[in-house]
Amino acid sequence: MIERRPDYYTDFHCLGGACPDTCCRDWSVVLDEDALADYAAAPAPLRERIAGNLAADEDGDVCFRLDEEGMCALLTPDGLCAIQRDWGEAHLCAHCAAYPRFTEEYGCLTETALAVSCPEAARLLLDAPRFALMETDDGVDGPPFDGVDPGLLAMLEQTRAACLGLLDLGPNPIWEKLHILLSCTQALQDRIDAGNYNGLDVCGRPLPDFPLPSRAADLLNLLAGLDPLRPDWPELLKKRARQLSALAPADYAALRSRYERANPRWERQLANLACYLVFRHWHKAVNDDLLYGRAAFVCAACCALYHLALFQPGEEAALWTRFSREVEHDADNLDALIWTLSRRSPAGPL
Ligand code: SF4
Repeated sequence: MIERRPDYYTDFHCLGGACPDTCCRDWSVVLDEDALADYAAAPAPLRERIAGNLAADEDGDVCFRLDEEGMCALLTPDGLCAIQRDWGEAHLCAHCAAYPRFTEEYGCLTETALAVSCPEAARLLLDAPRFALMETDDGVDGPPFDGVDPGLLAMLEQTRAACLGLLDLGPNPIWEKLHILLSCTQALQDRIDAGNYNGLDVCGRPLPDFPLPSRAADLLNLLAGLDPLRPDWPELLKKRARQLSALAPADYAALRSRYERANPRWERQLANLACYLVFRHWHKAVNDDLLYGRAAFVCAACCALYHLALFQPGEEAALWTRFSREVEHDADNLDALIWTLSRRSPAGPL
């Protein structure tokens, strides 16, 4: 079996109480039976504190209670988890212990990413000199899981490697790379729809006049229409969309030029972001055949986050984290966006 993860994976260390955000907020953490049995044996008074802060979510699953600000009731004023602080890391439930590591398994292949919804994972990705993967192979070949088409998975493997190569090391400007990604994926989607799982060379035509402020504003308004985790997110998106729409072409060009001069790594940062998203989401097309929508999601994320950063230079990690929490980690929002972006136009979502 092959295992893959980004090469900066082992550099990750949770910031604990020094985290500028926290993962102990907004999300319902579903507790499995092992965790509940463990917590029933916790030392007092922690046991009583845990028992008093369990709640059922809308599906009836047992979760930690969130307070009125969306904070986990087990979070202490010093920004630490009471279970970890008072009893030990070994007693964290599986979800909390794994975060921000997300693993996808396909039977013959296991891949783990560090989600940029965590500010420290976002910083590692921003600072990475390039997006590279570590791979191990135990030499034991197995078939993919039932329900995973081996031909489609092989096609996704081949084409994703080519696209990661294009995005990571290709000589083209980032916007041209993303456009090539889209145009290739259009052709790949046609093949998938026809049941033809032969790969494709990664090549495409140059991009005319991109990005345009009106397209970026449309995209921000589209994102603002998704179901928000925190209400300030759609407000921010709509405000930036209005600001972009109000810019004259010369002012838009000057804004971009100022940002790009002040942040010479902006293109590498966006390439890393695109690679991370391709790595995390490309193969999920084995579940629903929607490859083009996922490529369009990658392009949309890069376009939206670039334009948000124009107004908040130096806050890229915080913006990536917010986007990931609001869109990447919300299955309904992500599905809705992929579905919407799957409706193809010559320039895709850009
Ligand atoms: S978001 Fe990341 S750095 Fe912050 S507390 Fe959670 S795991 Fe640690």
